[in-house]
Amino acid sequence: VVEEGEPFVERHLIRVAKDHNPRIKIFGKLSSHLPQTGELNFSAVGRALSSLLGIKYDASPPVEKLEVLEKSLKMLTPRTLTMCSGCPHRAAYYAAKKAIRTVSKGRYLAMGDIGCYTLGMYPPLKFMQDVFCMGGSIGVANGIAQTGIKDPVIATIGYSTFYHAGIPALINATFNKANIKVMVLDNYVTGMTGYQPHPGSGQTATGSQTKKVNIEDICRACGVEFVKIVDPYDQKSSVAAMEEALKFPGPAVVIFRRLCAQEYLRMVRKKGEKIIPCIVLEEKCIGCRTCVAAFGCPAMGFDTVKKKSYINTLDCTGCKVCIAVCPYGAIKQSEE
Ligand code: SF4
Ligand code: SF4
Ligand code: SF4
Repeated sequence: VVEEGEPFVERHLIRVAKDHNPRIKIFGKLSSHLPQTGELNFSAVGRALSSLLGIKYDASPPVEKLEVLEKSLKMLTPRTLTMCSGCPHRAAYYAAKKAIRTVSKGRYLAMGDIGCYTLGMYPPLKFMQDVFCMGGSIGVANGIAQTGIKDPVIATIGYSTFYHAGIPALINATFNKANIKVMVLDNYVTGMTGYQPHPGSGQTATGSQTKKVNIEDICRACGVEFVKIVDPYDQKSSVAAMEEALKFPGPAVVIFRRLCAQEYLRMVRKKGEKIIPCIVLEEKCIGCRTCVAAFGCPAMGFDTVKKKSYINTLDCTGCKVCIAVCPYGAIKQSEE
């Protein structure tokens, strides 16, 4: 049995098979033919099969070193972990950073949470300084705010994580007068863990219709006096809302609401609609790299020979946020 993670299938297979034939032999992780930890790569499986067949395992050349693999590795664009092209979370973080530069000269502390939006802590955004645990962002931000720190203290939390574990900490923020700013990243879905329904989706786990529980209503009921809802694709309104929240003397919540880009693509394809990508106008691009080095949509790249940015139109979702990001008006939606 070759399975990643726990030897779940193997264990159950042994139980069932041995009832029928107690002498049957089952090989896998529990028999120590395969390693319990690490990846089940070609070599690990090759070694296990060789030992079972009683033949010498020929490790030369190990598949990881095959020439074709080496060549393909060289062709890959090096990237850090990042959110998808057109992801609304990237737009939310970008707007928040802009607001922070205006309100507090770029100084702030941000605590993250667990979900696709956790990836906002990696370059180029590097928005959060810490991610403690699932549901930990608002609680940790509360604690930091109580130290008397002068810089803005921000918590970023996803839509379904907020329902799951954000509410008690938000009540605590109001109760203990913690001057924290909460960014709720509402993409309508539970993106990272399989799009399962949650209290805001209007659907139960069995697919039946149910009442939607609104995050804005919960925030107000928790005593938060500043609650704003913005579309992160609208950079102007998003920056303005974050600036207001940062200046507000007390706990403030900005809900960034926009459908997950992957879910959007699924819907568009289902309807047979066309995605109109954006393009870089080479004659206007001065190669400042703001779009790639500060924003970082993975549909964008930089041509080091031409010293200009470009957009991979096959990967672009047409969200148009990069149009607002480029300070030189060098990006526009294509006419195709
Ligand atoms: S799955 Fe959706 S929410 Fe997650 S990174 Fe991709 S676009 Fe963003
Ligand atoms: S931000 Fe605009 S001008 Fe700067 S590199 Fe990107 S497309 Fe070119
Ligand atoms: S429109 Fe711009 S930001 Fe949006 S997916 Fe395309 S390249 Fe990325």
